[in-house]
Order: sequence, then structure tokens, then C-alpha cells
Amino acid sequence: MTDERTDFCVVGGGPAGLTLALLLARSGAKVTVVERSTSLEREYRGEILQPGGQALLAGLGVLDGARARGCHEHDRFLLEEHGRVLINGDYRRLPGPYNCLLSIPQRHLLAELLDHCHRENRFSYLGGAKVTGLVRDGSTIHGVVARTRGGERTVHSHCVVGADGRFSKVRQLAGIENDRRDHFAQDVLWFRLRSLGDAPRDVRIFRAGGNPLLAYASVPDRIQLGWTLPHNGYRELAAHGLGYVKDRLRAAVPRYADQIDAEITGFKDLSLLDVFTAKAQQWVLDGLLLIGDSAHTQGPIGAQGINLAIQDAVAAHPVLLASLRANDASAGFLRRYADNRRRDIETMTKIQRVQSKTMFSTGTVAAAVRPKLAMLVSRTPVYRAVLRQIAFGNRGIQLRADLLSH
Ligand SMILES: Cc1cc2nc3c(=O)[nH]c(=O)nc-3n(C[C@H](O)[C@H](O)[C@H](O)COP(=O)(O)OP(=O)(O)OC[C@H]3O[C@@H](n4cnc5c(N)ncnc54)[C@H](O)[C@@H]3O)c2cc1C
Repeated sequence: MTDERTDFCVVGGGPAGLTLALLLARSGAKVTVVERSTSLEREYRGEILQPGGQALLAGLGVLDGARARGCHEHDRFLLEEHGRVLINGDYRRLPGPYNCLLSIPQRHLLAELLDHCHRENRFSYLGGAKVTGLVRDGSTIHGVVARTRGGERTVHSHCVVGADGRFSKVRQLAGIENDRRDHFAQDVLWFRLRSLGDAPRDVRIFRAGGNPLLAYASVPDRIQLGWTLPHNGYRELAAHGLGYVKDRLRAAVPRYADQIDAEITGFKDLSLLDVFTAKAQQWVLDGLLLIGDSAHTQGPIGAQGINLAIQDAVAAHPVLLASLRANDASAGFLRRYADNRRRDIETMTKIQRVQSKTMFSTGTVAAAVRPKLAMLVSRTPVYRAVLRQIAFGNRGIQLRADLLSH
């Protein structure tokens, strides 16, 4: 067993964990990130980054390098029904300079964040280290135990930050209940096709026939598609066989029918996302803070997960530094972060639920009302305000440059 000591032990090197690690290390704190993966290739994770997250990454000097690794810029978000555009979320009309949606593979984002972290001499990274236990003294958490190829490692810390995603081990080890809510009536079946011709510059939901489908250009030269299906309905659907599933996909998006035929050759080409939201009952315990998906898992509607994860890190940064200086990592101290942030997350979850109902609801009444309602709503100032909220989140969350060495 190898032991080490750090100020902050961040579990999980995803967008939340690496953004926070960079901020803390640039502020002079000693930071150790414990990440179970040995590479940056993770199972498929979302790629759409909203303007708010882009602006924060730009402020950290990370955005340009991440973009240079490959991305697509999108001007608009569209809801299209039988070829008619019902909602045109025009990002170019938002305040610049980050007034676009960015489709950027998470590995590009993570690689750039990690490169910047490695330039800080008080940063260390334990890759291929899976957290399996917490170090406790009574009810206070003082570190983690991780399993690595070379044996067990113990990392003692002033504070542990759980940034280990929707199925957080840290949350589970700490005994924190996670309130899962099946707010959304759909799951998503993801697949990719080759991009033929110019990459489209919008993120589009098609309602052509059958279930709605999301499509956008993805790096390097692919179209990423997400077909919505009734929540928990995949097993029954798949039981009808691949041919049946492909028929349904072709009906949903006739313009890609030939490619679906040629390129979907087995169930291995399809991957299911179980859509749910969840909130951890506590985000803080003595010696522990949860951020990102481990604290609150969002549905994929409106592409909020990465944005909120980055904003969580930026909002937590000054509180964690103050806790280090005060030598106080009690739940009472760390609540300064959690109480405010919960309100932001609640607001966004409500917006996502409305988006989901507007875009994905089925049935004859919904089908008759949607076009009028969508066109009416999308022309109002309220809609423009909601679009700004979706794009930027809480604009009060800003980098604390005064705490950073550079
Ligand atoms: C299919 C899919 C599509 C999505 N689409 C979008 C989208 O378009 N836009 C968007 O904004 N969001 C999207 N999301 C959500 C987004 O991916 C997440 O909200 C975001 O990645 C959360 O970041 P995070 O850092 O909190 O957690 P994660 O990105 O999940 O990172 C957690 C990290 O913790 C590590 N880890 C886990 N357990 C352990 C352990 N025991 N020990 C050590 N390390 C551990 C994992 O390997 C991982 O690196 C999507 C999610 C999914 C699943």
C-alpha cells in the first residue's frame, strides 16, 4: 500500500474533475486526480458544448487548443416537423463571441484540460486508479483508497471531491442516497453514420414519422444521430430483430435511409442511453463535496451536462480554496457552494422538462397543437430569454481570475 498526501483529492477526470483540478492547481493548491480509465477514450459521452461552458474554458486558455484538436461549429438548433421548421434557436443572435453550439469529442476537451493541468507543478494524476474506499475518521472523510495495477494507493486530503459521474462510487461509499427520477418519457438510441458532402451547421430534431430523432455533425466526418424511443422500451423493440429496428430508424429520418441500410450492420452499431435525472440528497459531508453528474445527473435534452459540470467546478473553486485557507472542510463550510448551486440546477431541470414535452411528446392532441404552439412561443421575448438561459446558464458564475496565478 502506497500513501500520499494532497490538499484536494479529485475523484474522476471528466469535465467537472479536470476543470476543478486546473483551477485549484493554478491557485497554488496541491491537487491529485484519481481516474479509473487508463486513456481518454471513454464510452460515448455527449459532445455538444453550450456557449457558457465555452466562455469559461476560453477564460482558462483551454478552448482554442481543444477546438484545434477537431470540432464542428453549429449556428442553430432546429425542430423540424415533416420538413417544416417549428423552432429556430438561432445561436448567432446571442451575445458573442461564443455564440454557437460546439460539437467537440470529450477526449479533445479532456486531453487539452489535462495538458494544462500537467503544466502545474502541484498537480498529479493517478490514471488507471479506481476508487474503492474512503478514508474516514469518525464521520469525517479524509481521503480515498484506490486500486491500481501496482496495488492499493491511499490518498489523504484536506477534502475529497467526488466528480466520478452519474454512477458515482464516491457517493455510494459515502452512503449518500441518489434520488433518481424518470421525468422523461424517452430513452435515446445513439448511432453514427458517415457524413456525405458538407457537414450541416445545425443541431436538428427531425419529426418525420415515428419517433423524433436528433442529428448533428460530429468529428471527424460523421453524423451523430440519437433516436428517441419510449423509456424502458428497448428490450421489447430489439426482440423484433435488427431489420425491424432499422425500418423504424429509416422512417424517422428518410434522408439517411440508404446509409442506415448500409452502415448499421448489427446491434453493436447502436448504443442505448437510459435517460433519467437524479439528484444526490447531499452534495456535502464533512470532508467531501460532490460536483457534476455525481451530484446531479441531467437528461440529454438541451445538452446541459458538460456545461453544468464546468460551471460547478468554477463555482466550487473559491469555496474550496477558502476552506483550505481556513482549514475547515466541514459540511457547514462547503454548503456555501451547494446551497446556491442547487437552485441553478433546479431551474435548468425545469427548462429541460419543458423542452422535452415540446419536442418529443406524441399523440394526436400534441401533434395538432405543437406546430402552432412552437411557432408562437419561439417568436416571443420569453423564448429568447429561455434560449439565453439554456446557452449560458447562471451568468453570475465567472472565473475568479484574482485567485489564479496565471
Ligand atoms: C450518451 C450521452 C450523451 C450526452 N450528451 C451530452 C451533450 O451532448 N452535451 C452535454 O453537455 N452533456 C451530454 N451528456 C452528459 C455529459 O456527458 C455529462 O453530464 C458530463 O460528462 C458530466 O461530467 P462529469 O465530469 O461530472 O462526469 P463524467 O464525464 O461521467 O466523468 C466521470 C469520470 O469519473 C471516472 N470514474 C468513475 N468511477 C470512478 C472510480 N471509482 N474511480 C476513479 N474514477 C472514476 C470516469 O472514468 C470518468 O472519467 C451526455 C451523456 C451521455 C451518457
